[in-house]
Amino acid sequence: MAAGGPAAPGPTPLDRGKVEGGKVTFPNWRGEADRPSPPPPAPLPPDQRVGFAIVGLGRLSLEQLLPAFAECKRARPVALVSGSPEKARLVAAQYGIPDQAVYDYAGFDRIAEDPRVQVVYVVLPNGLHREFVMRAAKAGKHVMCEKPMANNSAEARDMVAACDQAGVKLMVAYRCQYEPYNRETIQRVRSGDMGAARFIEATNTQVMGPGDQWRFSKALAGGGALPDIGLYCLNTARAITGEEPIEVFARIFNPEGDPRYREVEESVSFMLRFPSGTIANCTTSYGAHESKDLRVRLEKGWIDLENAFAYEGQQMQVAHRGGKAEIVERVRLPQQNQFALEIDHMASCVKENRMPRTPGQEGVQDHVLMEALYESARTMAPVSLKAVSGRDTTRGPEPQQEG
Ligand code: NAD
Repeated sequence: MAAGGPAAPGPTPLDRGKVEGGKVTFPNWRGEADRPSPPPPAPLPPDQRVGFAIVGLGRLSLEQLLPAFAECKRARPVALVSGSPEKARLVAAQYGIPDQAVYDYAGFDRIAEDPRVQVVYVVLPNGLHREFVMRAAKAGKHVMCEKPMANNSAEARDMVAACDQAGVKLMVAYRCQYEPYNRETIQRVRSGDMGAARFIEATNTQVMGPGDQWRFSKALAGGGALPDIGLYCLNTARAITGEEPIEVFARIFNPEGDPRYREVEESVSFMLRFPSGTIANCTTSYGAHESKDLRVRLEKGWIDLENAFAYEGQQMQVAHRGGKAEIVERVRLPQQNQFALEIDHMASCVKENRMPRTPGQEGVQDHVLMEALYESARTMAPVSLKAVSGRDTTRGPEPQQEG
């Protein structure tokens, strides 16, 4: 500024914002025609956040979960459990986790004496979920478990019983039920504004590489494409309707002579019939190019959600009549990390003593249904299931805006 020139004016209240109820807020600086900018996040101070121990430092933990903690407001990583000391040391240093909070699988039970850890998050191959969820419950820790919950419904029930007995919470990490576009789809369908949902079409396919990975072992994976990725189609159809299917039908297809599919299946096409009449048609495969889409066909319109089951890139279109025109709208929601949202949800449930939206029972029910789907494929006939009355019978309260 030139010497002797006019002093710059101070900030107005619009510029400065204010502190209210422990949060910084700014007045809306945009015009009426535009969306207001979202408020600044109000993260809890680190020492008030819920401490998570991550069990298994594989791809999901390192590529998605640990980075997502940077966007969490209520949770923080405080311990690691790994069979690889070299990897664990490096990752602990990257995330500021002290050496004393790094455990190996044999020494895992010592976590009971670690007050930093409130939640144990099991991110191991599916066949190891039961053992580590049970050990975490025995250590008196709340538990979050990756999907699929286990290898079968018997294991999943054991896990629920162990957590109930220990008086700890159990949440299955069904990230799509916390993802904003999936939630918007569920809310629009359930509002009834678009009439009844006739069809749900869900696809989750990808192409798998070499055969020497745990996903091709029945003992470690429980099954093939169905429990790994087809589960998203199944769980989302249930979450949209809130109902439980009364009839299911499935066909399994395996490429001849491919040694990867000796123990687990490559492709499954399946149908679910819900009591209100909604039909879900689902497709999953380890041998078809990546495609993770969801469509709901309702009486008065349709909702298309591209990349519904992907980590990012959701694109939503909604169609309905507008006089003489067919109107197709694109819906854009604020960008949010679905992994951070689900982890913060568990942290809120622990802090406020609430049941998670996707507790153990939600995982048990998916295993019961997958077993019915395998039976249908084996017998080449539809399988009927006992009608369940009421909605969301396996779920806790709706997630709140985790602020
Ligand atoms: P991964 O193979 O990348 O990692 C598995 C980890 O477990 C590795 O660090 C490995 O060393 C360890 N491990 C311990 N014992 C093992 C054994 N006997 N065999 C193989 N590995 C062993 O797998 P991932 O993709 O990170 O999957 C882990 C879990 O997360 C699975 O349950 C999977 O279904 C789930 N997952 C969920 C999502 C999601 O979007 N929510 C995405 C990917 C994976």
